[in-house]
Amino acid sequence: MKQTKIVATIGPASESKVILRKMIEAGMNVVRLNFSHGEHPWHKSVINRVRELSEELHTPIGILADLQGPRIRTEVKEDITVKKGTRVCVSDIAQRENLPKSKDKTILLDMAGIISGVKVGHAILIEDGTVELTVAEVGENFVVAVSKNAGTIKNRKGVILPDSHLVLNILSEKDRKDLHFIVDEGVDFVGVSFVGSAQDIASVREAMKEMSSGRTSLPKIVSKIERKEAIKNLVAIVKASDVVMAARGDLGVEMPESEVTILQKHIIAESLRSAKPVIVATQMLQSMTENPRPTRAEVSDVSNAVIDHADAVMLSEESAAGKYPVETVAMMAEIVEKTEESPFDDLFQELDLNFRSETAAMLRSVYHLAQSYEAKAILLFSASGHTARLLSHFRPERKLLVATNNRKTYNELSVVWGIDPYLFEGNDSLDASIEHLIKEAKKDGKLRAGDQAVVFEGQTPGQDMMKLVGIRKIR
Ligand code: PEP
Repeated sequence: MKQTKIVATIGPASESKVILRKMIEAGMNVVRLNFSHGEHPWHKSVINRVRELSEELHTPIGILADLQGPRIRTEVKEDITVKKGTRVCVSDIAQRENLPKSKDKTILLDMAGIISGVKVGHAILIEDGTVELTVAEVGENFVVAVSKNAGTIKNRKGVILPDSHLVLNILSEKDRKDLHFIVDEGVDFVGVSFVGSAQDIASVREAMKEMSSGRTSLPKIVSKIERKEAIKNLVAIVKASDVVMAARGDLGVEMPESEVTILQKHIIAESLRSAKPVIVATQMLQSMTENPRPTRAEVSDVSNAVIDHADAVMLSEESAAGKYPVETVAMMAEIVEKTEESPFDDLFQELDLNFRSETAAMLRSVYHLAQSYEAKAILLFSASGHTARLLSHFRPERKLLVATNNRKTYNELSVVWGIDPYLFEGNDSLDASIEHLIKEAKKDGKLRAGDQAVVFEGQTPGQDMMKLVGIRKIR
């Protein structure tokens, strides 16, 4: 059983129930819906299919709804062809009527007021940096920028301003509509794009609270780290988030591509320190969009994310629009399994937890007990999932079988490294839940008579004691 989880983006190549089922059977744990594409009825139909399959296959499948975020786009009347050294005038839509007649071609950015943060020397990157401009002059309500390379600037292409201090409204009008839908649908995770500060996350939480008319069960926030600003504020952002994503696509445009590997390691290490699940995303098996087999470099990329101890690895275009969505998930699962079997992903020292708590101290003992008794599994009851996430943080290379009586927790644990959740929706006592868990795990072949297991009962609301039950020999 693999311990690193797989997130796969769903699109036209994978939307049918037949393909979704095969992807789950191949190892997909979380479904990602990219709200940059598709209408609400389409998203709803996929959500319904995934929920049906989760029930039918008795498997938790998390649903991650990924917001488009405040993406800046070009507005041009017609394509602008540039050569190295071509000068263009750049402004934003608020200035449309105020611009002087210029002999240079004009590009408008579709976010009002954005141009005031752009200064001399700043880069303007268009369409994933395919065209790179450098600002040479700043006018009253426009800038003049010079192209560093030849290319074509088209309408509605994404723009990144890596050097400019931008006051972005973290939720655009479209995001607000999508967030309403996401909250109403009760999905498990919401992806927040272009996060710049911890305040952005607080704003999204506040917006969800307002939209939920008092409902307490809100989606967990996945902060996408893809801006230079987010790297600057990483520690605070990780603390404020529920889950973190190294969104290497846009990150590799905002920051030098040569730094992406190191930034990935930095993001994972910071997330581990705060015991927040972390996903590595984008282009992991990109060539499988077209080909049935990945490149060796892609295999190495997935293995390295496992060795870095990410909780999950993610597929985007490969599974959404590629020719081989099922084979891609199967390949990713195989690489994960092979890497986990090797000694290279073993942690040889305890992680440096940057928080102290009684629960963490108890879990440290559980970890050491499991190591010294060479236990096959750790059995845990966790109502909110908090204790399960802390246990996972130690990356004990054992089966981590978790009983919960909360369906939300059951689905949310789908993204957490190593956790294999079981749902028992009754009001059973903790002891009875553990007995249930043992019975079900034996049925699934995950435990056998004679196996040793460490049993721990995490704290539940209203209960003031955690219980380390100790070593149990399975009968
Ligand atoms: C990314 O940029 O890596 C990413 C995951 O975001 P998106 O696919 O939404 O651009």
